[in-house]
Amino acid sequence: MTAAFDLHRPRSLDALHALLDGLARRQQRFAISAGGTDLVPQLKLGLATPEVLVSLGAIPALRGITREPDGRVRIGAMTPLATIIADPLLHAVAPVLGEAAARVASAPIRERATLGGNVLADHRCNFFNQSPLNRAAHGPCFKAGGDVCHIVKSAVRGQLPQCQARIVSDTTPALLVLDAELQMHSPRGERRIALADFHLGDGIERHRLAADEVLLAITLPSRPGRVAAYEKLAARANLDFPSLGIALARDGDRLHAAMTGIGVRPASARAALADGALATLGESLASANPVYDQDGFPRDYRKRMIAAYVRKAARRIGGDAWT
Ligand SMILES: Cc1cc2nc3c(=O)[nH]c(=O)nc-3n(C[C@H](O)[C@H](O)[C@H](O)COP(=O)(O)OP(=O)(O)OC[C@H]3O[C@@H](n4cnc5c(N)ncnc54)[C@H](O)[C@@H]3O)c2cc1C
Ligand code: SF4
Repeated sequence: MTAAFDLHRPRSLDALHALLDGLARRQQRFAISAGGTDLVPQLKLGLATPEVLVSLGAIPALRGITREPDGRVRIGAMTPLATIIADPLLHAVAPVLGEAAARVASAPIRERATLGGNVLADHRCNFFNQSPLNRAAHGPCFKAGGDVCHIVKSAVRGQLPQCQARIVSDTTPALLVLDAELQMHSPRGERRIALADFHLGDGIERHRLAADEVLLAITLPSRPGRVAAYEKLAARANLDFPSLGIALARDGDRLHAAMTGIGVRPASARAALADGALATLGESLASANPVYDQDGFPRDYRKRMIAAYVRKAARRIGGDAWT
C-alpha cells in the first residue's frame, strides 16, 4: 500500500527551488513528478517512499515546443508524448522522435507521460520492479536498499558499478542520434549538457542531474537532410518496455546508431557509410555493455538481435542499397 505523502504544486521555477531548498534543509525525502507514469507504479510497489511529492505540472516554463532564433528546436520537459507525436514542427524536423514516443506504453499513458520523464525514467531489473512480497522472497538487492546484487553476485556495496539495472527509455536513442542537448535549471542558474554525456555507469546513480536541479527542456540542433528510424524489440507492440531499442540516423555519408534496453548507459556508435558499416555498428553496440538475463527475452537472443535491429532500422531509412 502507498504510504501517505504531502503534495506540492509550485507555479514557477523560483517557487520550485524555494520548496526544494526547504525540503533539503529539513532533510525531508521528496520525489519530483512530471506525468507520474513511471513514478506512481514505484510508489505503489514501495520502491519510492517520499514524504513530499513535488508536481511540476503547474510551471509554464517547462512546457511548449518552439523554434529558437539559431534554428534549434526547444521542447519543454513537461511536453506530453502525445503532443510530441502530433506536433507538426517535430514531424518536419525530427520525425524519429515521434516514432519512438509512439512506442512508449499505451495511448492513455502517452497523454500524461512527458518527454522529460521519459528521458529520466528509472532503470529496470526483474529483481527490482516487483511487489514487496516478491522482493522479500529473494532478498532486497542494492537498488532496493539491500546488500546484494542478484545479477552480478560479486558486486560490492560502494564499488561502482553497483547495479546493472538497464535503461528502458524509448526516446533516448532517438534523441541521441538527433544530438539532443539537455537544459537544466537549479538555484545556481541554467546549464546545458549533451545527452551523450549525461548518463553515469550505474543503475542507481544513473545520471548527472543534481538533487536540486530540474530538467527544463531538451533542444535539438537543426540538421536538414538527416533521416532516422527507430526499431523496438518487445513482447507486445505496445505497453511493454523495450527489451532492445535501436535508433539509426544517416546524415550524408555518416551513420549514427544508439541503443536502449541493454546496459546501464545507452550505447552509441558511429560509422562512415561504406560496405560493412552496419555490421560495424552492430558489433560496437553489442560490445558496449554486457547483456544480462533481466528481461523476458533470453540474453543471447537480445544480444543477437542488436545487429538484426540495426539492419531493420537501416532498411527503413532507404538503406536497401547498402544493407
Ligand atoms: C504500463 C506501463 C508501460 C510503460 N511502457 C514504457 C515503454 O514502453 N517505454 C518507455 O520508455 N517507458 C514506458 N513506461 C514508463 C513511463 O510511462 C514513461 O517512461 C514516461 O515517459 C515517463 O514520463 P512521466 O512524465 O510520466 O515521468 P514521471 O513518472 O513523472 O517521472 C519519471 C522520473 O523522472 C523524474 N522527472 C521527470 N521529469 C523531471 C524534470 N523535468 N526534472 C527533474 N526530474 C524529472 C521524476 O522524478 C522520476 O524520477 C511505461 C509505464 C507504464 C506504467
Ligand atoms: S542489477 Fe542487481 S542491484 Fe540492480 S536492480 Fe538488479 S538485482 Fe538489484
